[in-house]
Amino acid sequence: MGVISLGRREKIAEKVKSMMYSLDNIRNIGIVAHIDHGKTTLSDNLLAGAGMISEELAGQQLFLDSDELEQTRGITIDAANVSMVHNFDGQDYLINMIDTPGHVDFSGDVTRAMRAIDGVIVVVCAVEGVMPQTETVVRQAIKEKVKPLLFINKVDRLINELKVTPEEMQQRFAKIISDFVKLVRMIVPEEFKKDWIVRVEDGAVAFGSAYYKWAISYPYMQKEGITFKTIYKLCREGKQEELARRAPLHKIVLDMVIRHLPNPRQAQRYRVPHLWPGDIGSEVGRSMVNVDPEGPLAMIITDITVDKHAGEVATGRVLSGTIRSGQEVWITSLKRKARIQQTGIYMGPDRISVEKIPAGNIAAVTGLRDAISGETICDGEEPIVPFESIKHISEPVVTVAVEAKNMQDLPKLIEVLKQVAKEDPTISVEINEETGEHLLSGMGELHLEIVTYRIQRDKGVQIRTSDPIVVYRETVEKPGPIVEGKSPNKHNKFYMMVEPMGKEVFEALREGKISEGRIRGKSMVEEFRKIGLDKEEAKRVRDVYRNNLLIDMTRGIVHLEEVIELVIDAFHDCMKKGPLTNEPCLGLKVKLMDAQLHEDSIHRGPAQVIPAVRHAIYSSMMQAGDFLLEPKQNLFIQVPQDFMGAVTREIQSRRGQILDMKQEGSLVTIISKVPVAEMFGFAASIRSATEGRALWSTEHAGFEKLPLELQDRVIREIRTRKGLKPDPPKLEDFT
Ligand code: GDP
Repeated sequence: MGVISLGRREKIAEKVKSMMYSLDNIRNIGIVAHIDHGKTTLSDNLLAGAGMISEELAGQQLFLDSDELEQTRGITIDAANVSMVHNFDGQDYLINMIDTPGHVDFSGDVTRAMRAIDGVIVVVCAVEGVMPQTETVVRQAIKEKVKPLLFINKVDRLINELKVTPEEMQQRFAKIISDFVKLVRMIVPEEFKKDWIVRVEDGAVAFGSAYYKWAISYPYMQKEGITFKTIYKLCREGKQEELARRAPLHKIVLDMVIRHLPNPRQAQRYRVPHLWPGDIGSEVGRSMVNVDPEGPLAMIITDITVDKHAGEVATGRVLSGTIRSGQEVWITSLKRKARIQQTGIYMGPDRISVEKIPAGNIAAVTGLRDAISGETICDGEEPIVPFESIKHISEPVVTVAVEAKNMQDLPKLIEVLKQVAKEDPTISVEINEETGEHLLSGMGELHLEIVTYRIQRDKGVQIRTSDPIVVYRETVEKPGPIVEGKSPNKHNKFYMMVEPMGKEVFEALREGKISEGRIRGKSMVEEFRKIGLDKEEAKRVRDVYRNNLLIDMTRGIVHLEEVIELVIDAFHDCMKKGPLTNEPCLGLKVKLMDAQLHEDSIHRGPAQVIPAVRHAIYSSMMQAGDFLLEPKQNLFIQVPQDFMGAVTREIQSRRGQILDMKQEGSLVTIISKVPVAEMFGFAASIRSATEGRALWSTEHAGFEKLPLELQDRVIREIRTRKGLKPDPPKLEDFT
C-alpha cells in the first residue's frame, strides 16, 4: 500500500515532536478553493511531496476516497488534517494543515476551521479564473484575519488543452491576479493592507499544476533560471515530469507558505483579540497572545470526528499552555471536566500519539465526550470565557426519511447514522430497524443536504432521501380548564390542566439553564424560582421534558407516589405527540390538580393510568385552543450592494421579515427571519438572484405562531401525511 513505512513514520513523528516548540518555524494553514479547482489534488500532492504518503497514491484521488484503505486499516481517512516537515533555506519547518470544508455550511464549520489557522492557500483554476465561491472563501478568511496566498492551478490545461500562446497565458495570469487583488483590497482591514495584498515579484503567488506536481513562483524562476517560456515548452513537449523535477510542487508551494504566512507568534498577537471576547490583559489572555506553552491551557475545538477505535476525536488549535494526555480539562459549555485520553498529531491518514502538544499547534485529542465543534477547552479552577457561546440544544425543525440504496448497506447505515448524530449534535436520528426507513432531523434543508452528502462521500453509504418535511410544535396561549380523566375501569380519576409556561420560564429552559429529567425532592426549588416560577409551583415540579413542565399540585393523596411514574410516562407521550396533529408540544405547564386512586394497586396499572392522564391533558389542551407553532430561522446574507434589491425581494416572497441591514464597504449584510417552511429551495434561488455572489448562513430562531390563515391547511396536511383523518379533532372527541 502507499502508506509510508513504519520506520519512516516514526522518524517523521520524532521530528514533528521536536519542532513543536520552535514557534518561529511553525505555520498553521488551510487550502480553500472553488469546487473542482484542485484543492484535493493539491493537498494530496503536498503530502506526498513532503513524504507523508507515497507519490503513486497521491493525485490519483485514491487517498481521500479510498474505501478499501479504510476497510483494510480500520481507520477514518482524514488526510486533509496533517502535519508536515519542510526544509527551507537550510532550516526545518513544521506545517500543520487542516481541512477547511469549502461549502457554505450550516453549522458554521467553515469559519470554525479558519479559526485554527493563520493563513490559506487559495487555489484558483487558470482556465476558469476567480469564481463566486473563490470570493466567498476569501471573504471568510479575511473576516477571520486569516491571510490568503494565491495558487493558480491547472496551468497545464491552459497550455495543452486551450492551446493559448505564451503571451495569452501571461495575460490570463495577470487577470486572475488582478481579480484576486481587487477582491482582497476591497475587504482587507487597514492594518494588513501593506502585507496582505499579494505581489508576484515577492513570490506570494505561485502557478502550476497540482496534478502534474509542478509549480513555479517568481523568486524560484529567478533563482533557477526557469522562465515562462521554459514551462510552456516543457508542457507542450509532454515533459511535465522533468518540470516536476526541476520545480517540484511541494517545494514551491511550501516555500511560499513559509515565506509569506505568519508564524503562530506573529499571528496570535492580532488573532487572539479577534477570536476571544475575554480580557486580553488577564493571565490567560496574555498567555494566548504570547503563545506561552507554560501558561494556562486554552484550546479551541474546530472539528469533531468519530473514529471506530478511538471514539470521538476533537481537532483544534492550542492557543495557550500545553495539552497532555491524562490531563483533566474543562469542557466549558458543559461546565464539566473530562480527562484527555490521548493527544496526537495528524500524519497522512493516521494520528500518531504524542504525550503533549504546546501552544501554537494543531492537536487531535480524545476523551472529550460530548464536546462539539466550537468548544473551548481549558484548565484551572474555573472555565475561562469561551471563544464562542455554544448552545447544546437540539430542536430539529426539518426531517427527511433516509434509506440505503443497496440492501447490503442496511446495517452499515444504522451505524453511520448514529455516528453522524454524535459528530453533529444538532442532528437527531430515529432508527427504525423494521422498515429500514430512518428519520434524520436537523436544523434546515441545507443542513440535511450537507449531512446526507457527508454520509455518502465520507462514510461511503449510498442513500435515498425523501423530500424534507417541516416539524411543527403544538402549544396553547391561555390556560385550559381542569379536566377529569377517568381510567377505563372507572376506578381512578386524574384532574389535570395545561397552561402556557410564560416567556421567561420558556427561554430559561431553552437556554438549558435547567436540565431535562425527573426532579427529586426539593433540590431545584431555588433554580425554578430564579427562572420565574411562583413559589408553590417551584416546589412541585416533577419532571422537565422537551421544554415542558409537569407540576404536581395535589396534597396528601394516598398512593400517588406509586403511580407518579405512570403519570410522567403519560405526560411524555402527550408532549411527544400533541392532540391536534401529533407534533411535539412546547412551552406547556401541565398540572396535576387532584386525583382519586383505587385502593388496590392491581386496579391502577399502566393500562388504567396512562389513558386517563392522556385524556385529561389532551382535553385541557384542546379546550385551551391548541394551535401550531412553526420554526423560524434567522437568515444572514452578505452581498455586494447591487444585489440588495434582489435579495430583499427573495426574502419577502418567502414570508420573511427583514430585521436589520448593515453596510460594510461595498457589501451589505441583510439580517432577516424566515419560516423554515418557506426556505426550501432557497440555496438555488438566492444563487440565481445574486449570480452566486451571496454569502449566507442561517441559525435557528425558535418557534412562532403559524399565521391563522395557514393553520387549518397545515393541520390537514400533517394529519393526512400521518394517516390520521384530515379533519382536525373536535372538542367533543375529548370531553
Ligand atoms: P477540488 O474540488 O477543489 O478538491 O478539486 P479536485 O482536486 O478534486 O480536482 C478536480 C479535478 O481537476 C480532478 O479531476 C483533478 O484530477 C483535476 N485537476 C486538479 N488539478 C489539476 C491540474 O493541475 N491539472 C489538470 N489537468 N487537472 C487537475
